[in-house]
Amino acid sequence: MHLSGRLVVASHNPGKVGEIAALLAPFAVEPVSAATLGLAEPAETGSSFAENAALKARTAAAASGLPALADDSGLSVAALDGAPGIYSARWAGPGKDFNHAMARVEEALQGHGAVTPDKRRAWFTCALALAWPDGTLRGWTGEVHGHLVWPPRGSQGFGYDPVFLADGQSLTFGEMAPAAKHGMSHRARAFAQLVADLAR
Ligand code: IMP
Repeated sequence: MHLSGRLVVASHNPGKVGEIAALLAPFAVEPVSAATLGLAEPAETGSSFAENAALKARTAAAASGLPALADDSGLSVAALDGAPGIYSARWAGPGKDFNHAMARVEEALQGHGAVTPDKRRAWFTCALALAWPDGTLRGWTGEVHGHLVWPPRGSQGFGYDPVFLADGQSLTFGEMAPAAKHGMSHRARAFAQLVADLAR
């Protein structure tokens, strides 16, 4: 399968659109955001990251007549039974306030007495789905594991980046230069699989 020409990036999250555009830079595709095309954001009714990514990609491909790449991603915390998980964006409330979302996660962790790194294990998941207007769909998933720090550190990235410390790192995703995060993130890992698959 080959990818070229215009490709809809089916996300209304500017942080994600920017990261996906950076990952697509080496390829002969012209990313167009769903917001630029005025596409509506579908309700995320799936029960997994992969289902939600597929739903967003299918909706955007059908509405635009172009191939569409969607990302559904989030932060899962082991001590919270995987929450916020697919509800990661919703924990930030209607104002998309991630300081609030990070504080909510921290409060829940404190409620569990989770103060040492081993009790604060967490991971980011990224499910990517690529849909074509004819209904063809492919999907890939990447994860990055680490633990949560408090207080938040750094102002790079987006979402929960300032509280996430990947295993083996001394800088949170919020402190890392974007290129460093792109070298190891859940999104980069899912993307590497997409690239390997499409190159076949
Ligand atoms: P959705 O996939 O649009 O439903 O939202 C996923 C949410 O997960 C984002 O709004 C972020 O809060 C969080 N998230 C996903 N990927 C990242 C990341 O790379 N860094 C920080 N937060 C992320």
